[in-house]
Amino acid sequence: METQLYQITDPERDAAVLEKAAGILRRGGLVVFPTETVYGLGGNATDENAAKAIYAAKGRPSDNPLIIHVADPTEAEPYAVTSDAYYRLARHFMPGPLTVILPKKDSIPLSVTGGLDTVAIRCPDHAVARALIKATGLPIAAPSANRSGRPSPTCAAHAAEDLTGRVDMILDGGDCEVGLESTIVKLEGDSGVLLRPGAVTPEDLRRVIPDLTIAPAVTAALGEGERVLSPGMKYRHYAPAAPLVLLEGEEARVRAFLIEKAAERGVGILCFDEEIPLMPTGAVLFPVGGKADLETQAHRLFAALREADAAPEVHQLYAHLPPMDGLGLALYNRAIRAAAHTIVHIT
Ligand code: AMP
Ligand code: MG
Repeated sequence: METQLYQITDPERDAAVLEKAAGILRRGGLVVFPTETVYGLGGNATDENAAKAIYAAKGRPSDNPLIIHVADPTEAEPYAVTSDAYYRLARHFMPGPLTVILPKKDSIPLSVTGGLDTVAIRCPDHAVARALIKATGLPIAAPSANRSGRPSPTCAAHAAEDLTGRVDMILDGGDCEVGLESTIVKLEGDSGVLLRPGAVTPEDLRRVIPDLTIAPAVTAALGEGERVLSPGMKYRHYAPAAPLVLLEGEEARVRAFLIEKAAERGVGILCFDEEIPLMPTGAVLFPVGGKADLETQAHRLFAALREADAAPEVHQLYAHLPPMDGLGLALYNRAIRAAAHTIVHIT
């Protein structure tokens, strides 16, 4: 398959490109598009064959359901059983980096939801994404536009690296602002469970859902045979080629450990910006942003993991264990999975 690549910044000025992309989606094809979280691999969510094509292009297990993207929160109505709690969340956080799990309606095939009777709804806060969805007049199923097991793409080049020849079109709208996938909340009446942390934090959500709980799989390794609420949580995502070890402990000690390790051959460090000048010459560094700048760390993490993968000399990676509050929880969740839960306490 030939993959067309177009730059798109202003949906109005680039209306011809947008219409071309919408046509592909209406005909059952696949289009990669930018969102504020990560790039999405879009297909018509009401078309079973488009869903199959998405799973095939990603190499994704078909029991791992897809998120349905709509241009406006009310556009979920034909596909999901909405509720007061849904609209309260929508008022606060949509359009934005939040996905809500609701009971599904028959218009969405089971092949899209991995056989579940629920459906994931998201309304992205990105001009190109919303204009594209509007132009199709369809709900768009869109998982992250990476091959399964690779970090989510935060720029068009990442998506092109993974999916060239596997999709009809890639729309390049520049870097994704957030850089981590959406927060996922499953609504149960007025209560909710956080299934995946993202830029909408638990603290944000509790202003709307005071008794929000956090699924154990967000912060812990799954036990053998344990049931997960979100099928995606049982897969080891974001696996860098070199094993990643996360470090916790007193700041000065962790830093000293990293400086020592950085001098070894084959070691790569996902370091804070302020650590760069402290590292030995020749150290292989993948800076993720300032220690206190969690937004930049979120924005940089997946690109840093891809850079580490592309560095053939690196066979061991180290990084700081992120904090568990605010946006830190989303970083923590991605980091422990990339590290296959390998955390070392430095004393
Ligand atoms: P991605 O689209 O790559 O960000 O992955 C989508 C995530 O949403 C996966 O982790 C899925 O398990 C989760 N998801 C999608 N639909 C549902 C659903 N109906 N119930 C629970 N989790 C879901
Ligand atoms: Mg994904």
